[in-house]
Amino acid sequence: MSRSFDPGIIDEQERPGMPRTSPTVRARSVVAALPRYTRAAGLSDVRWRASSNESTVPPSPHILAAIRDAAERGNLYPSLIGEDLVADIGARLEVDPAQIVVGGGSISLLQNVLAAYTGHGAKVVHAWRSYEAYPILIGVVGATAVPVPLDENFGHDPAAMLAAIDDDTRAMILCNPNNPTGTELSPQQLEDLIAGVPEHVLVILDEAYQEFSRYPSRTASLRARFPNLVVLRTFSKAYGLAGLRAGYLLAHPDIADDVRAASPPFGLSRVAEAAARAALSDRAHTDHIVEVVREGRAHLVEGLRRRGIHVPHSGANFVWLPVGERTAELEAACVARGVSVRAFDREGVRVTVGERAAQDAVLTAVDDLGAGTRQDGLTA
Ligand SMILES: *Cc1c(COP(=O)(O)O)cnc(C)c1O
Repeated sequence: MSRSFDPGIIDEQERPGMPRTSPTVRARSVVAALPRYTRAAGLSDVRWRASSNESTVPPSPHILAAIRDAAERGNLYPSLIGEDLVADIGARLEVDPAQIVVGGGSISLLQNVLAAYTGHGAKVVHAWRSYEAYPILIGVVGATAVPVPLDENFGHDPAAMLAAIDDDTRAMILCNPNNPTGTELSPQQLEDLIAGVPEHVLVILDEAYQEFSRYPSRTASLRARFPNLVVLRTFSKAYGLAGLRAGYLLAHPDIADDVRAASPPFGLSRVAEAAARAALSDRAHTDHIVEVVREGRAHLVEGLRRRGIHVPHSGANFVWLPVGERTAELEAACVARGVSVRAFDREGVRVTVGERAAQDAVLTAVDDLGAGTRQDGLTA
């Protein structure tokens, strides 16, 4: 018997099921090259989580009741394409159900869009820094990410993004408001940017944080004008269901049909669908979440600016602290004060707006760093 198949009793006891040799099968090279998702520092021990843009408001009793009812039929597959949730979203937004696709989170929908419309040889333009998942999802389908630097105010740079389009470009992702900087394009800037994209290039507008924006959504008129526009929405943020996994997209019926075809069946669990439907009908709950964020955001931004940190206007449920070289130091200070935050090395720290006490802990952490944390992140 070859050594490599020796069950190795001692190893078995140490790590049951762990083979003694490494696999010789190899993932595709694009997968091997992907950055790995990471957890924020201190996430399991901190008192407050401000690192993942979750809502601090738990599901309402109405939502919990719907979850319980759905769970009782957990032995049965959900509907094939989430017809009931699609119908509810259609009724709420006055959109034909053929233009709506639902899924287990908007990120998995984005993966399916990219699988359907891009792939090897395709380029996908997106702003950077923006949502960490974009380059990973683009890489997984074999396409090439074309990151375009943000402008000096940490916002999308429309002219540079349009200039980055070439003959191989198949899609452009717009994150508005942008994660992690919170910046947003004005309605006019957004319209002009989309108008500048050639019709054969898909525009994917990720509106995960739209409900927290200072601008009302204009996607109905934009979609009417631009058939190449796909809008992504989520139940994870303003609906407070990040742990349930539900999102949807709005697109021309032809695009919606292709995305459904490219998606695994039963992508939305019975429980997630029930929770999303209940959340959609519980307007008071969403209004409360949005109100808590708007109030808390104003408090946090004001406190940070008073401490000399130049915080860009945020249209989301988080704020961006561009502290540059002092990023790791600030992250450690926040964790020491009991708050997990999302740090992007040498760029800045993203803080989710949460409980007042958590915000005050972040402000105290900034104080811990001492005076002189200026907009460029350098000590005065
Ligand atoms: C949080 C977030 C989402 C939501 O993803 P889900 O899969 O729906 O939870 C999408 N896009 C951005 C930019 C986000 O920050």
